[in-house]
Amino acid sequence: MSLTCLETLGVNTLKQGDTFYSVLTGNTVALGEGSTFSAHSPIDGATLSTFNNATPAQLDKVNAELKDAFKVLRTIPAPRRGELVRRIGDEARKYKNELAQVISLEAGKIVPEALGEVQEWIDVCDFAVGQSRMLHGLSIVSERPGHRMMEQWHPLGPVAVITAFNFPMAVWAWNAMLGLVCGDPILLKPSEKAPLCALAMYQIAQNVIADMPDIPKAVVSVMIGDRDLGEAIAASETFPLVSATGSTVMGRAVAKTVAGRLGRSLLELGGNNAMIVSDTADLDLALRAIVFSAAGTAGQRCTTLRRLITHESIVDGLVERLAKSYGSLRVGSPIVEGNLVGPLIDEGSFNRMQAALDTAKKQGGEIVCGGERVTEGVPAGGFYVRPAIVRIAHDAPIVHEETFAPIMYVLTYKTFEEAIEIQNEVPQGLSSAVFTESMREAELFMSPAGSDCGIANVNIGTSGAEIGGAFGGEKETGGGRESGSDAWRNYMRRTTNTVNYGGDLPLAQGIVFE
Ligand code: NAD
Repeated sequence: MSLTCLETLGVNTLKQGDTFYSVLTGNTVALGEGSTFSAHSPIDGATLSTFNNATPAQLDKVNAELKDAFKVLRTIPAPRRGELVRRIGDEARKYKNELAQVISLEAGKIVPEALGEVQEWIDVCDFAVGQSRMLHGLSIVSERPGHRMMEQWHPLGPVAVITAFNFPMAVWAWNAMLGLVCGDPILLKPSEKAPLCALAMYQIAQNVIADMPDIPKAVVSVMIGDRDLGEAIAASETFPLVSATGSTVMGRAVAKTVAGRLGRSLLELGGNNAMIVSDTADLDLALRAIVFSAAGTAGQRCTTLRRLITHESIVDGLVERLAKSYGSLRVGSPIVEGNLVGPLIDEGSFNRMQAALDTAKKQGGEIVCGGERVTEGVPAGGFYVRPAIVRIAHDAPIVHEETFAPIMYVLTYKTFEEAIEIQNEVPQGLSSAVFTESMREAELFMSPAGSDCGIANVNIGTSGAEIGGAFGGEKETGGGRESGSDAWRNYMRRTTNTVNYGGDLPLAQGIVFE
């Protein structure tokens, strides 16, 4: 496995001996002071990197740097901050292939998907650059004569970004590129499973900052550490906003801690995404969307299709076609051209998948195809599986859980209203889709009585969102929105200003106080 991409990116210089630095602020570059851990490639289990966990005590020093950086960044005009992000986007363009290789090595994504993730970073840079000239508020009529009222949006403060292993670059980019144009220094705590991706992004940003002396280096900072560090970040008053992406268990812990100090959290947590396939659907279109949504990224997307809610009249034929299509999916090394399904992230993930399939069988499910480990024609040491299709009742308890692996449960419905009820009956609320040729069904699905998810698509699969829209979900998915639309407001504070340009001091609501 080639690590030359790290050399090209300059990441291999970010270490002392064999241990990579865990605290990087542009000014401070230090080894972690906690226990040692190694990150492995899901491709073959090989050790890719060794780190020492950065400790909560080290966070105190970084916090001081972030606060100083904020004092400078908040006064730099937003279009100049946009210039910083524009140049970061250009640098990411230049090294797109190398960055994608780091994603494939650490997260096991097939090359086209890894390139797609870097492209999301590039695209969100373009979006954020435009936004840097549109951080505008409202002008509001005052009820008092000789007064004017307006809203302004100001930088919020240092923002902590805690990320999951499965989108090691895009999630940081969604938060960081917008946060930077909004005037906030960004501290990234990446997943312990993908720390080199964080160093690669840090290197790209610092290459740019080196040529912009007015920008404090610490505005792009990284601390690499485990859950203890994540908990310390959530508890730290330095961060008015903690943006955390990962499991619902993690989100609950972060939300409680941040709320305890009356901070804000932006949560992007687990999904249990569903697609309704109506008896009117264009099944050729649906088939392609189902296979990509359910088996793509080896089922390790937050938006992966996990529940297929099919009209009872078409289910048998559809499942037969799906099983055939699944049979031709090439499972194997993500860096070999033509493979479509790469490895699971690690053995723990494989074990959780097997346990879920066993539970599904005990709860009345029938495995139509897949689920088994693939050992031939794949690198030894990786955990490769054939994506599974399971027919099961919609109310089997396992169907209501997110198993972060390629298992698609096929459920049936009789009426469209029932399909929507089934779609909404799980605790998660991220992504959903309907395949239908009926305008009434499509509109009902998107209406207040329709899908309760943050994403509700018509004749498009559940995975693969565009950066221009606000991304996120409801219920146990956490309620956060990132990336496009008005998500930039998360990274700013709003102030309402009232100006009296008259000679009197009239009080609101006509109150007389004399
Ligand atoms: P995870 O929850 O195990 O870890 C995510 C991050 O949280 C890591 O950086 C980890 O160190 C940190 N962490 C764990 N416990 C913590 C705590 N108590 N306090 C602070 N930080 C803590 O998740 P994972 O296995 O890396 O990722 C998979 C999960 O992420 C899935 O549930 C998936 O659906 C979800 N996800 C959601 C989205 C979304 O946008 N909704 C996107 C990607 C992934």
